[in-house]
Amino acid sequence: MNVTISRAQLRSRYRITGQLVFETALHIGGGRNPAASTDSPVVRDGAGLPFIPGSSIKGAVRAAVEKIIPNLGLTACGLTDASVKCLTAWSNSNPNEEKLKAYEAVREAVGRDPKAIREMEKKLRLLGNPPLDNEGKISEETLLHILDSHLCQVCKTFGAPTLASVIHFHDAPVVEDLWIGVTQVRDGVGIDRDSERARSQIKFDFEVVPPSTFFALKITLENPQPVDLGLTALALQELIAGMIPLGGIRSRGLGRCRLHEPKIEWVDFSDKNMLRDYLLSGKMTPKPFEAFIKEGLDTLLKQGD
Ligand SMILES: [Zn+2]
Repeated sequence: MNVTISRAQLRSRYRITGQLVFETALHIGGGRNPAASTDSPVVRDGAGLPFIPGSSIKGAVRAAVEKIIPNLGLTACGLTDASVKCLTAWSNSNPNEEKLKAYEAVREAVGRDPKAIREMEKKLRLLGNPPLDNEGKISEETLLHILDSHLCQVCKTFGAPTLASVIHFHDAPVVEDLWIGVTQVRDGVGIDRDSERARSQIKFDFEVVPPSTFFALKITLENPQPVDLGLTALALQELIAGMIPLGGIRSRGLGRCRLHEPKIEWVDFSDKNMLRDYLLSGKMTPKPFEAFIKEGLDTLLKQGD
């Protein structure tokens, strides 16, 4: 089996930039400002400007991708379908699951000889006999083999407790030139935690960034495999189509946005010319957007065949 996840050497880097333009107001709470005149201020950076945390964009994009890819024959453990085998799902639902325990034991034993630890041979068998290194020891490569066959595709691309993500979403700052500098405060209705019904007597208000605000999106991928690029293409198309709302209170229509003017650049670190340009001036090579999307989607559509 080919390992599709290998992290040691940096072989390629992709950078995707664009502007997220909001069609409705955006509320991302979590701001702490005791002087604020609202119950729930929006999160701001050190200079007091609103921004969208990368983790918030990633969560929304991941959820959107998860809903689509089972149709393409790819696995997604985040859905409620318990039949999807993934270490992450097991750790959430059953921390004592046999394979999860076995993986944790093997991880503890990196650098050691499994023959010296008889128990370990049993655990390795349970995980599909991943290869050992040249000296017959459990290596990082052994762990990657296990993760490759025991994580769903969404966890491989977007990360899991056991594996760093291939795709990284940076915090998205407001585009200052286009920022009007004014937020709004809206009234909300409190939710009774016990009944989950709205209780009109509980009033609260929240701050929003108004519609037509622009935020600068930035995404980095390192060593992506064709399937990772495919999931990225899918995500970008959904963002362009306005199908991935961001932030809180989305049930009231907040957070609808579209990706404008996406650009893709990349460096192949094994290409001396690209590497030289990158190291000398930080210059990456532009990748035509349409071609990137088409290649990525073609890869995904071939998965189920
Ligand atoms: Zn998973």
